[in-house]
Amino acid sequence: MLDRLSPLKQGMQPGRLTRVISVSLLLLLSLWLPGVGTVERLDSQLIDFRAANAPRTASNRFVYLAIDKESLDHVGTWPWPRSIHAEIIDRLVAAGAGDILLDIDFSTPSRPAEDQALSAALLRAGGGVILPVFLQRQNVDDPSSATITRPIPEFAKNAWLAAADASLTEAGQFRAFDTFRGMDGENFTSVAVVLSALPEAGLPEQIGIDFSIRPDTVRVISVADLLRNKVPADMLAGRSVVVGAYSTELKDQFPVPIYGILSGPMLHILAAETLLQDRVPQPLVSWPIYLITVLLVIAATIWRRLTSIPVVAAIAVVISVASELAAYFLQKQWSFILPTATIHLILALGFTALLAAKLDLTTLLAELASAEKRNSRRILKRVIQDSVDAVFIVNDQGTIIDLSRAAGSLSCSSWEPRRGSDFCEGAPAVLVAALRRSIAAFTEGNRNAPAIQEEFDLVCDGQKKHVEAVLTLSSLEQSGSGSDEDHGRSYAACITMRDITARKVYEAKLRRLSQLDDLTGALNRRELINRIRESAEEEKMLAVFAIDLHRFSTVNATLGRYTGDQVLQAVSRRLMAAARKISEVPDVGLVGRLGGDVFCVVLAVSADNPLSFYADKIVGVFSKGINCGSSRIDVSVRVGAALASDVAGGPASWIDAAEAALDQAKKVGGAGWAVHTPVEAAAEARTRRLEKDMRPALKRGEFFLVYQPQVDLKTGAIVGAEALIRWQHAELGLVSPMDFIGIAEANGFICDLGRWALEEACREAVHWPSDLTVAVNVSAVQFAGSDVREDVLHALQVTGLPPGRLHVEITESTFALDAKKLLEDMKRLKALGVTIALDDFGTGYSSLSYISDFPFDLIKIDQSFIRRLTEDAASRAIVHAVTGIAAQLGRKVLCEGIEGETERQLLSVMGCQFGQGYHFGRPGPTSQLLALLNQAKPPVELTA
Ligand code: C2E
Ligand code: MG
Ligand code: MG
Repeated sequence: MLDRLSPLKQGMQPGRLTRVISVSLLLLLSLWLPGVGTVERLDSQLIDFRAANAPRTASNRFVYLAIDKESLDHVGTWPWPRSIHAEIIDRLVAAGAGDILLDIDFSTPSRPAEDQALSAALLRAGGGVILPVFLQRQNVDDPSSATITRPIPEFAKNAWLAAADASLTEAGQFRAFDTFRGMDGENFTSVAVVLSALPEAGLPEQIGIDFSIRPDTVRVISVADLLRNKVPADMLAGRSVVVGAYSTELKDQFPVPIYGILSGPMLHILAAETLLQDRVPQPLVSWPIYLITVLLVIAATIWRRLTSIPVVAAIAVVISVASELAAYFLQKQWSFILPTATIHLILALGFTALLAAKLDLTTLLAELASAEKRNSRRILKRVIQDSVDAVFIVNDQGTIIDLSRAAGSLSCSSWEPRRGSDFCEGAPAVLVAALRRSIAAFTEGNRNAPAIQEEFDLVCDGQKKHVEAVLTLSSLEQSGSGSDEDHGRSYAACITMRDITARKVYEAKLRRLSQLDDLTGALNRRELINRIRESAEEEKMLAVFAIDLHRFSTVNATLGRYTGDQVLQAVSRRLMAAARKISEVPDVGLVGRLGGDVFCVVLAVSADNPLSFYADKIVGVFSKGINCGSSRIDVSVRVGAALASDVAGGPASWIDAAEAALDQAKKVGGAGWAVHTPVEAAAEARTRRLEKDMRPALKRGEFFLVYQPQVDLKTGAIVGAEALIRWQHAELGLVSPMDFIGIAEANGFICDLGRWALEEACREAVHWPSDLTVAVNVSAVQFAGSDVREDVLHALQVTGLPPGRLHVEITESTFALDAKKLLEDMKRLKALGVTIALDDFGTGYSSLSYISDFPFDLIKIDQSFIRRLTEDAASRAIVHAVTGIAAQLGRKVLCEGIEGETERQLLSVMGCQFGQGYHFGRPGPTSQLLALLNQAKPPVELTA
């Protein structure tokens, strides 16, 4: 098929039109080319080349008497006194010289005596001395700037004047002299003609200089030698002498072909030699030669048999060389000039035209395309062979037509794919099926079916490999397909296979790593949730157990972290082994690590057994201690259990419920367990809800303060009120501080909330009667997490409440903090002028030393003592002791939770100054407080 595309080999003839165009172009070119500057220059160079390679010697008829450096040094000045020139003439005449050319500018008079000396010498020479007349241009490019330089009349009348102008070519070289030159209305013969003494008639208008006459063969004598009388007379006798500048200092230099630069006198001599040796270059009439060349080219173009490009090229070269040889010979022998550049160019263009006609564009492109195709095939073959994947190219017969070297790595005794073998024979069944599917789709006309990708295990000689394969079917156009599209189409399948065993192993490892806990190999929380979800779809009864290692921190602290890690690993192993056994369905026996020393076991349970049955079994798993090296460590666990069906939400909530039950179990103490109940779940849900909602609630203004009066127990007068916070939840209704303060303390929100309460209480109290105080509760967490002094100061400043009217209540639990820092903080706080009260005294880490060590103004005895006051002597004793110590230390005492008049009277008698409780008023808005203030009744004193 490729051969058919090559018309050259088939002898296809160039188109008629191409031929006609080529011939016409050539004819036009032959007329036009010789006039082109570039072609002219090329011809000049060829002429010079021939001249340089056919050197001739000078005739020895001329002597160049050179005014060289030596001469200049000899005389010592320039211009020379004209008497020197006179002496030269005299000496030359005396020596018998023929014509004498003094190529020197005598256009201006010098000293009269000198001029007279020269004039006399000229006269003595009998008028045979030639003096130059020439045009001297001020500006080389401007002909109008030329002035005629000619000898002064005194000299001219005794001399022979001749034109000494040389003609400059376009290339800026001096190549010729004008035979005659008209200047100042006179016609002057050129110096060269005069020197040659040839008859002027019949000479050409211009005398081209034959530069094959070598200037170094012209005899040159220094004027100095002549003046020193060192020149033998026979050197000069009978010869024409040209006296002129030789030294470069005199600047009589001209650019010429071959030799670069020659002096003016030497140019005159060469021109005269040219005439004398009959070497004036004579251009031959060249158009007939061009025409012959053109005809030859045309003949070659149309001659049917002349089809071989190399033959045509050889003929062109032969003609070209022959013409060049002829030109050389003609120039050397007779100074005939044959401009061959045009011949060479016509031949070259003719050959190009012939080439273009023979290799018409389509042919050329077809040749290129076929070469590219061959190249592409080679590249494709190479790419397939070098592929790192196993690549198989299979034709529509199912035969492997090409395969990569890497394909060999997949071959084994049961399947040995080779070039030429049937791919389906022994190939993995999944691949054969994929190939059939692809072919079926192709046959149904689906030419662009997507690539089929398969992954399968290939067991080769007992070795298992995981292989990924991609199969693509490419439609091929068949030659000679005819009009029916489908008949002309075939296909080739490319199956690329890659051994991905290593990748699969790595992926599995990664997956395992992402699912399992690094240390113990148990499932991590995320994966545990996933697996519970999967199990829950199949099993109705799932139970989740959270397991905590009792006192594990002690193991870590006493035996070291390494042993601790070993214990955790052993616990994990034991739980894994036990879970499947305990579970009612062995497959559902998951073990996860929730963090630190908390594990999770998920089991399928039966409705016949209570959760405690399974919890007991889990506790029993650790009845035997764990061996760690040489030591045996006893492990006891707490278990929190939750039945999935009892807990709302999904697996994550079930785990949360089990953890909540675990907290419960931990509180119980001992090696026990606790089961999560729906009631607890509801409480936890509420806690979570409150935690989630509290921050936005503050922004939305859902928090508000109520005020509970504080009274003077003796007079019954209201002395102030305690601000107590409330939360009006949009959905849950009014929420007690007992429910949310603990949560706010746990998550740190209490700092924001406390800051708000302080400011809000002060803002409200500013409007109360000025003798009323306001008490604000400040949590222990506020002392740890924010600057309470700053908050108090800010609240006082923005509201304008006098510091003396503010009580800050600090609960006893606060004293679990760093006591030194707390003392410092309290002192700074007290320095503001506020009253500091110790709230709920007697509930926490009650220590009477607090009363003395810290700067409290007021001790608030907790309501739990007051409630038992009447029936419990111990409570009375405590209250009595506290009031006694307080009195001694100068602290006041306020009793909380006074609900009856009896308690009031009793407390008053016991020396307690102030009271707070439902007996005096429940917490309520400011309006309620102010109303109580107005109806305050005097107390009834208890008589002993
Ligand atoms: P607390 O500071 O000891 O406040 C006194 C609590 O006792 C208040 O409960 C009050 O309503 C209740 N109470 C007063 N008189 C009686 C009585 O005669 N009988 C009974 N049974 N109870 C009485 P409340 O308002 O529920 O506050 C509970 C606790 O919440 C407060 O105890 C306080 O520790 C905390 N709290 C309230 N508001 C704030 C606050 O703004 N900031 C901080 N940090 N804690 C606050
Ligand atoms: Mg309080
Ligand atoms: Mg209290």
